Order: sequence, then C-alpha cells, then structure tokens
Amino acid sequence: MFEHPIRSGLSLKCGRCGEGKLFGAYLKFKPSCDHCGLDYGDADTADGPAFFVSSLIMIVFAPFYFLLPILEAPLLMKIALWIGLLGTMILTGYLLLPRFKAILFNLQIQNQAEEAKFESTGSHGKAPKNWKH
Ligand SMILES: [Zn+2]
Repeated sequence: MFEHPIRSGLSLKCGRCGEGKLFGAYLKFKPSCDHCGLDYGDADTADGPAFFVSSLIMIVFAPFYFLLPILEAPLLMKIALWIGLLGTMILTGYLLLPRFKAILFNLQIQNQAEEAKFESTGSHGKAPKNWKH
C-alpha cells in the first residue's frame, strides 16, 4: 500500500507508509524507513529535482529581470531590490528542493522505476533462443 507520492513528498515522508522521514540531513536520504523498513537505496533521483526547481524558479522570477532594470528608482533602492530578488530566489530553491526530491523519489518507489535496460529482441526479425512466447 502506497501513500499519495505528492502528498507524502511535500511532507518529506516515506512514499510507502507515509510515516517515516525520508531525509537524515538536508537532501541526504536515510538508509531506510524508520517506520516500514523500506530500503531507500533502491531509487535515485539524480539531478531531476534540481532541474525542475531551477526551471520553475526561472519561470516565476524571470519577469523581474526585465522589470527591475527599467524601474525608475534610486540606485541604492535598485541594489536592494536586486539583492532581495536574488535572496528570494535562493530561499525558494532551498525550500523547494527537498520537497521535489521527495516527490520524485516517492514516484520512483511507487512506479518501481529503474534505469533503462537494453534487451535484444534478436537479430533480423528472429526471436532470441531464450524468447518466451
Ligand atoms: Zn516507510
């Protein structure tokens, strides 16, 4: 029985039981679930969460990169706004990254996702010898 991967991911909980914590430290998975014993070494999110979080942040904050330069304001205020914008972007990424990693991890567990494997179906249209019909 699996918990909803997005709901359990947003709360940083195990995708199978919804109770155990996923992370032992920031972005570092525990070896297994404290509650149900699920081995967390089976799935790997790689750089997927970073891609989604950085894309989302750039889409949301991109308009400010066009608006701030044309803003009629004193230089010190512009500098403060730029620092505020960059700080907000960094803080948003810091908060979203563990949640996206947990969601992708729980989706992998629930869907039993793994690396793609190449298995030959034979050559020249012939089925391999160990082919099962
Ligand atoms: Zn669990």
